[in-house]
Amino acid sequence: MEHFEEIHQEPGARAIRRDANIRVVFDSLGTRKDIVLDGKVITVAEDGSLDSATVSAAIFYHCKHPASDPMGSQCGELGCSNISCRACSVDCFCSVCLKPLCLEHLEQVETPEGIVKFCGRCKARFLRKQRWHSITRLILKPFVDFDGRESS
Ligand SMILES: [Zn+2]
Ligand SMILES: [Zn+2]
Ligand SMILES: [Zn+2]
Repeated sequence: MEHFEEIHQEPGARAIRRDANIRVVFDSLGTRKDIVLDGKVITVAEDGSLDSATVSAAIFYHCKHPASDPMGSQCGELGCSNISCRACSVDCFCSVCLKPLCLEHLEQVETPEGIVKFCGRCKARFLRKQRWHSITRLILKPFVDFDGRESS
């Protein structure tokens, strides 16, 4: 298996046993990705000694926290397989559709009510609605003012 090649081995030594701890993840399209977290190799060295080495891969979550931290959620944007640690996942989701997001796809929009977190689609929808809202307000404004003058 190709992933065993990723487990370090002294040059010239012959591996007689290799163990790999592999994490299998799927992106939102269902594509499988295997990540070697750590492994163990027992080798016979050139001088005949039996060597054993444990190898830990420096794997990090997309949020840059080490893979030894508890695993959080995978980004829900199409084709994105980024996984964040649990601590980062708590705050990374779309406030409209509740889709979990990675830091790359998390869209933050400043509104009068404060910062709102969106996924790409909900952000576009929100901005479109907001634009229409201000256009409608602009069109209605003369009437509103007129009405206001009339009543006073
Ligand atoms: Zn994190
Ligand atoms: Zn959303
Ligand atoms: Zn993402």
